[in-house]
Amino acid sequence: MTNILAAQSAEMRAKGEAMPQQADKLLCESWNERMWSDGEPIDPSPTIDQAVNAGFSWLEIRCARCKTPSDVDLAAMKHPPTTFVHDLASRLRCRKCAKAGRRPSATLLQLGWQPRHPRTEA
Ligand SMILES: [Zn+2]
Repeated sequence: MTNILAAQSAEMRAKGEAMPQQADKLLCESWNERMWSDGEPIDPSPTIDQAVNAGFSWLEIRCARCKTPSDVDLAAMKHPPTTFVHDLASRLRCRKCAKAGRRPSATLLQLGWQPRHPRTEA
């Protein structure tokens, strides 16, 4: 009997621990759907922490000026984990345009499980 209760307890705890992750996943998926359909509004969005927790640790963006796509590793960001993903739009800079002395904002495309574009180091 004791073992059964202990097993139930462990099961409940595991379910409880999985729930916030499920919630974060749904939040990321609903944000993605909004990006796919209209591309806006980008606010509200998940936080960096929520996206990484849900497994969506890559943010696909495109430069608003030169249209160069790139992937941002959210897990490696220096911004606080409580930063909202939509707040990154004005903070991420295109390397190409930065070299040309421009600072256009980034267009946010979607959150992903893995990068979609090869690294552009140029
Ligand atoms: Zn650019």
